[in-house]
Amino acid sequence: MTYAPADAAFAARLEGKISPKAFKEPEPRYFEEPRGRWTSPVGLVLAPENVEEVRQILMAANEARVRVVPYGGGTGLVGAQIPGPGPAPLILSMERMNRVRAVYPEENVMIVEAGVIMQDVHEEARKHDRMYPLSLAAKGSARIGGNLGTNAGGVNVVRYGNARDLCLGIEAVLPDGRVINGLSRLRKDNTGYDLRNLLIGSEGTLAVITAATLKLVPIPPEEGTAYMVVESPDAAVKLLSMAKSQLGEGVSAFELIKGMSFDFMRASFPEMQLPFYPAPPWMVLIDVGLARGNDPQEALENLFAEAAEAGLVSDGVIAQSEAQRQAFWDIREYMPLASRAVGGICSHDVSLPLSEIPEFLRRADQLVSGLGPFRINCFGHMGDGNLHYNLFPPEGETRDAYMPRSKEIYAVVHELVVKMGGSFSAEHGVGRLKTDEMKKFADPTRLDLMRGIKALFDPNGIMNPGAVLPEA
Ligand SMILES: Cc1cc2nc3c(=O)[nH]c(=O)nc-3n(C[C@H](O)[C@H](O)[C@H](O)COP(=O)(O)OP(=O)(O)OC[C@H]3O[C@@H](n4cnc5c(N)ncnc54)[C@H](O)[C@@H]3O)c2cc1C
Repeated sequence: MTYAPADAAFAARLEGKISPKAFKEPEPRYFEEPRGRWTSPVGLVLAPENVEEVRQILMAANEARVRVVPYGGGTGLVGAQIPGPGPAPLILSMERMNRVRAVYPEENVMIVEAGVIMQDVHEEARKHDRMYPLSLAAKGSARIGGNLGTNAGGVNVVRYGNARDLCLGIEAVLPDGRVINGLSRLRKDNTGYDLRNLLIGSEGTLAVITAATLKLVPIPPEEGTAYMVVESPDAAVKLLSMAKSQLGEGVSAFELIKGMSFDFMRASFPEMQLPFYPAPPWMVLIDVGLARGNDPQEALENLFAEAAEAGLVSDGVIAQSEAQRQAFWDIREYMPLASRAVGGICSHDVSLPLSEIPEFLRRADQLVSGLGPFRINCFGHMGDGNLHYNLFPPEGETRDAYMPRSKEIYAVVHELVVKMGGSFSAEHGVGRLKTDEMKKFADPTRLDLMRGIKALFDPNGIMNPGAVLPEA
């Protein structure tokens, strides 16, 4: 495809059609991949205030063949929100479409615009004694449109599902200006093909999501959190199964953490209180949410006792207050930042059938160790079979000398993941960083159909070109 630049002449087409307030400063954050992997050509940044402005912008871009990149909070980890090389792009920032349109507490439903920040959704839900259970460390910046665009996961998927599971309906604008009015509040609606689920996870390549109907849940009346030291990832898998048998749906989060994560935390955030230091080789962070009248501390103590008897755990700390619970979660949520401070060479966001995780870790460690003197760290949402398997330079060195090898390492790890029945993108998406993997591993029929869908929604290919689909 050949594209035109989003330059002054293009901007002039929009005069009188959208408010001057929609024109934003082209700040570097819109054009720089957050981990410094590349910088895009600077272009136009537009922040529409309503659906009509989104329509006007998209129709103008479609007519002029300007590439459009929808932008939420910019926290995506696969570079989908930062354009690649080419003529000046149009960044469509959703930051001014940030209204809560309606809340229906008795239905456990909230309708929000795409630019609402995830944390603001959490706070709004709390005002109604409800919870929006999608949660991740970037919740203070990530916006609902980006969460849906990437089908985000996070820490509570084990109980409540991912962004797709928590969305009942979507309103979106197609590149030609047509609007999909799909803000349904229905939990049952079998009326043909499901466009909502097609748009969720499409990473801005099909349409711009302008609003969504989100599912809320009641806040569990009794909550508890514990760190437990596990003997190995095998023990963690067994502990998860034991926890589910004892507590059923009460297991709200189950995170596996390698001890090196605590070393990185100590280096980057020395003020943070760690429950164990020196760090044990492996730990899990467990969150439970129980019905009224159940004591979460007792539940976690019982779990620990049975697990200790089975030889699965050797130490544990249960949060004694809400403040301590939060402090336990802060440690987990700062881990990606601590990794970033150390400077990762490769961050893998993979998922595997749960019982394959220990074997994957053994085989991956062996393969990667054969490639160089890397430090291997790992943490992740084990309850969902999702690991962040990350490589760092040896102590005292920076990543620069190793970055040229990252493609080779990704290839080795992803090859293993796929061979073991897993996915090379569990929750972050494909973006621009994993299109090679799409080409290599995606089923050709599926890729063909995806290209057909793309052509139907976006015949001129203006929506986030270069993301998700590899070049044919
Ligand atoms: C510290 C940290 C921790 C994280 N932890 C997790 C985690 O646990 N789980 C997880 O899943 N992710 C995690 N992420 C990744 C990231 O936060 C998520 O992918 C998040 O959903 C992105 O939201 P965003 O608003 O920042 O989207 P952006 O980065 O702005 O955009 C992401 C994608 O969505 C598209 N998009 C944005 N808005 C729209 C729209 N309105 N319509 C259509 N497409 C749109 C963009 O074009 C792009 O393709 C983490 C990131 C960080 C920095």
